[in-house]
Amino acid sequence: MQTLILDGLTVPADVITEIITRESFNIRILSIRDVQHLNHRKLQQALMYAIRPSRRENTPKLQGLYIFGPKYARRHHANICSDMPTSCGGVMASQGAQIGAHWNIRSEDALAEDMARKGTGWYEKPGQVFDKAPILEFEWAEVIQACERLISFDAVICSGPRHSSDPSPANKAWYTSPEVHISPRIATHAIGGCSGCGRAPEGLATAKYSQPSRLPLMAPPPVHSSTIKYAKMPTHIGYGPEKKLLIRCMDCLRNRYCQSCHKWWCEDCYEVDLRPNLAAQWEAQSARSGKIVKVHMGLCVETCLVGEMMSGAGGDGMWG
Ligand SMILES: [Zn+2]
Ligand SMILES: [Zn+2]
Ligand SMILES: [Zn+2]
Repeated sequence: MQTLILDGLTVPADVITEIITRESFNIRILSIRDVQHLNHRKLQQALMYAIRPSRRENTPKLQGLYIFGPKYARRHHANICSDMPTSCGGVMASQGAQIGAHWNIRSEDALAEDMARKGTGWYEKPGQVFDKAPILEFEWAEVIQACERLISFDAVICSGPRHSSDPSPANKAWYTSPEVHISPRIATHAIGGCSGCGRAPEGLATAKYSQPSRLPLMAPPPVHSSTIKYAKMPTHIGYGPEKKLLIRCMDCLRNRYCQSCHKWWCEDCYEVDLRPNLAAQWEAQSARSGKIVKVHMGLCVETCLVGEMMSGAGGDGMWG
């Protein structure tokens, strides 16, 4: 068995730990989206154990974990547990059988829901990718980073230039300064190229040319192939391997991204004053010669902020 999908089920934390850490399971892709009462901390510990430096060669077996997105079910996953390995002990084997039985019942219901969810995803439209913020978001960002090159997830950490830990000394850009450094974050927003230059300092990612760590696993998990490369291909949702993807964390988009029209300005085109006081920011930035504030209170000044003011209560609500 290479792909195991337990989405939406109640799965004891110990079972998940066993699947991740025991080689005998030989599961390459595990999907536990919307698993009931999931113990995120235990799961993180299991993953860190699986990738520990003293691990055995050719481990971990697990290469892909779906956990952050909404559950995604398909009819032909119904018999996926039928060949649960028996070498891993009676308890585990019967757990597997039980899970399989539940799945048979659930999968039909899930299908309708599944169809409704089609069309949401990383590549389709700009904006927030997840319905809700990931649980233990900061801890997960660290785990995803630690698992890089070993285990992929249906989320990636943000590659914005302020996360870069090793800026080259030749790079004198303001965002390489340690004062503006941001620790790892999960990328939560899909955006296009910068409104100024059409690019991004970190470059737009594509399945064809980019580091695999830039690409999240695509849902649903592939059933006929358990390769991670394939699982990251946007071909699942009808795009070619050269389809561009740029996803970032909100910390990297603050004051440079419009939540209404999704325009944004990159670090090379636009330096944002990072002081917390908005009024002070506005003043300071306006005062700087040649620097025009592009985003204020989450809206682009050139289009959406003006529109908001015109349609707001007399237009003076924004400035309170
Ligand atoms: Zn730019
Ligand atoms: Zn970021
Ligand atoms: Zn806008």
